[in-house]
Amino acid sequence: MKKHNFAAGPSIISEFAKRETAAGILNLNKTGLSILEVSHRSPEFMEIMEDACNLMRDLLNVPLNYHILFLQGGASTQFAMVPMNLLHTKAAYLETGSWAKKAAKEAKLFGDVETVASSADKNYSYIPKDFTIPEDADYFHITTNNTIFGTEIKTDFDSPIPLVADASSDILSRPMDVSKYGLIYGGAQKNLGPAGVTFVIIREDILGKVERAIPTMLDYNTHIPKNSLYNTPPCVAIYASLQNMIWMKQCGGVEAIYKMNMEKADMLYSELDRSKLFHPTVTVEEDRSIMNVTFVMAPEYQDKEVDFRDFASARGMVGIKGHRSVGGFRASIYNAMPKDSVQALIDTMREFESKL
Ligand SMILES: *Cc1c(COP(=O)(O)O)cnc(C)c1O
Repeated sequence: MKKHNFAAGPSIISEFAKRETAAGILNLNKTGLSILEVSHRSPEFMEIMEDACNLMRDLLNVPLNYHILFLQGGASTQFAMVPMNLLHTKAAYLETGSWAKKAAKEAKLFGDVETVASSADKNYSYIPKDFTIPEDADYFHITTNNTIFGTEIKTDFDSPIPLVADASSDILSRPMDVSKYGLIYGGAQKNLGPAGVTFVIIREDILGKVERAIPTMLDYNTHIPKNSLYNTPPCVAIYASLQNMIWMKQCGGVEAIYKMNMEKADMLYSELDRSKLFHPTVTVEEDRSIMNVTFVMAPEYQDKEVDFRDFASARGMVGIKGHRSVGGFRASIYNAMPKDSVQALIDTMREFESKL
């Protein structure tokens, strides 16, 4: 049976990336060696690293005064690395969900944290709009896509202080004006590639403003001059991410992918708005994530949740159980999710509804 992988992360990756990574594991570019065994200092791998940086720069139009890094430790390590490198006295955070809260928690270890606004009052089902970015803070941290709660900041706004974005789950899903940001980071395992690598896009001039001693591996200035090759990088994850970005380029780049993402999200939200059985948890249309669609069963059908999960699972739907802090369901429809799979989920929802 065909599986439709709606998991939140690690998550669906393009067939192209799977095939090319498998080929590179068996025989890397006809070298007779595997990507699993080549030295990270070999010309073969140096080229892979360079290609990955160049392609990410190309896909996102990253200006030349920004560096692109491929590190380890996940977005969760960036929660600490960002304040360690940037927080002199005070940082500002927008609290839009669990990941945003975890990021702010780490920052508190290094200085004052001002929570500029929060959507906790409605279980993070919307993006706060009326807030002022404090000009005396060292940076303003946002989570562009709230993977758990299904909300997303889809515009790149102006900030008087460096804007820092956790874009783990929406990087490369839409064209982004990188020049509005001081730093963008994320774990690769949602939309970029497999687990094991963390991307950081960082503007040169935001560094060097703190006085604390920073452990070598956690200092951006260690990795920048070494092009992410200070120590052994996650070679295989970088290789697979490169293949996935090659696929994105072949799709027509981020602009073309964004169109497809919008189409898929519109299909699913339209169904949720129509359905008597399922309700979207994010009612403010402009705040709805195009990557993670969260929905619950209408109150009168709440006892059907497990039935629907079994019904969907028997039709090949994988990973649609909602996060425990929201309940219900979550369909993650990242770049690699085909439109046909979204349609298959909609068909499944309709079939279930018709049997009630
Ligand atoms: C998954 C996720 C994280 C955590 O990423 P790790 O790489 O597992 O540390 C952080 N932020 C967001 C928005 C996420 O979706």
